[in-house]
Amino acid sequence: MKSKFDRDLLDNLDPYSSEVSMSDGNLIRLNANELPWKNEAVVWALHDKLLSLPLNRYPEVTNSEIRKNIAEYIGFEKENVLVGNGSDEIIDTICKAFISPLDKVLIPTPTFSMYSTITKVYSGLPIIIPLNSDFTLPVEKIISESKTAKMAFICSPNNPTGISYSEEEIKAILDTGILVILDEAYADFSGHSGLNLLNNYDNLIVMKTFSKAFGLAGFRTGHCVASETLVESMSKVMLPYNINIISIKAIELAILHEDFMVDAVKKIKENRKYMYGAMQEIKGIKPFPSSANFILFEAENSRTIYEELLKRGILIRYFEGKNYLRVSVGTYEECVKFISSLREILNVC
Ligand code: PMP
Repeated sequence: MKSKFDRDLLDNLDPYSSEVSMSDGNLIRLNANELPWKNEAVVWALHDKLLSLPLNRYPEVTNSEIRKNIAEYIGFEKENVLVGNGSDEIIDTICKAFISPLDKVLIPTPTFSMYSTITKVYSGLPIIIPLNSDFTLPVEKIISESKTAKMAFICSPNNPTGISYSEEEIKAILDTGILVILDEAYADFSGHSGLNLLNNYDNLIVMKTFSKAFGLAGFRTGHCVASETLVESMSKVMLPYNINIISIKAIELAILHEDFMVDAVKKIKENRKYMYGAMQEIKGIKPFPSSANFILFEAENSRTIYEELLKRGILIRYFEGKNYLRVSVGTYEECVKFISSLREILNVC
């Protein structure tokens, strides 16, 4: 549907959609790279604090306290940190601050769809650079395209491939001088981070989120780390009071109870190892090694596999028309159910 007030660009955009509603309680949800466990440490600590939170007041307008908290946690200053309503809002803020109409934005693809969507919203030109056939980063191609580009989105580990890029590759792109946005939504599962590169590069923004390893997707909290100058530029276009008082408290508590995240990451890595090993043994699919909390796999009959898994109560990510599927690493029991269902399906189809 189209209204007479639409900007032309809306003709080429679709609303972000997800296949499940919150009421599908019995479904095993392995489609959105979430943590299978609720962050109980935060929930209980928050429960105790809830009555004393000043919910009749606006939050502090510059999010100063929570930025300080996050900065201390990762070894930076509060002036280097910006918080958002999920890292989705950070992507939006970056594009709002830095994209002028027709600016080129390099997007090695397949990757997270929001980079391209939000680039278009701000009238930038997404330059889609296909990943190499083994899903490694086409660094030379990116460097050559950077001559006419304003910025590049690099996701590491990449969604949906699960592959992490090396520090050398990121540095080579940074050396071109364009603005590099390094999305580390899944870096807690890989154990590698480009945060240390910020000491030498002022054209780098590192994005992080509490939605994945910290198990707080429902709170919608993410952040980025960059030079004071870049953070100040982004602050000019960010909406005031963008994250609510409860989410601010949740971040503070998540950092305080970091052991929940450390333990969750350990368990996910164990389950990932089990799942990848078992998937390698199944004829008819090819899983790709992952350093994130999900596994991409190739399968001729991807649509049938997706539908058959759904009939068995398991939801994974199907990419329309592609021979690939992505599955989140869940609890051990969920992984076992997924593997046994997959075996069953592939024996019959
Ligand atoms: N970056 C990547 C690579 C993602 O996969 C996602 C969510 N799927 C996000 C950012 C956004 O995460 P959030 O807004 O929950 O922080």
